[in-house]
Amino acid sequence: MPLFDYKCNACAVTFEALVLKGKEPAACTACGSADLARLMSLPAVRSSTTADLAMRSAKRRDQAQGAERTHAQAQYEESHDRHG
Ligand SMILES: [Zn+2]
Repeated sequence: MPLFDYKCNACAVTFEALVLKGKEPAACTACGSADLARLMSLPAVRSSTTADLAMRSAKRRDQAQGAERTHAQAQYEESHDRHG
């Protein structure tokens, strides 16, 4: 269900409204003002942002591990050359 949080700019009340096919609520449920602002607290947006962050941190971890392996290999070759 496309349920959105709205805030009325006239009386500052917040309310949830069902939005079907892009049809936004025309007026505040408390005072009837049409001066509404949609609040960015959608569960769908939150979960996709969390997934993005999880994916990004996983990629960063993979890159860090790869860099560490390369570094260890370079150190090994360095010491091997020095002693050999
Ligand atoms: Zn209002």
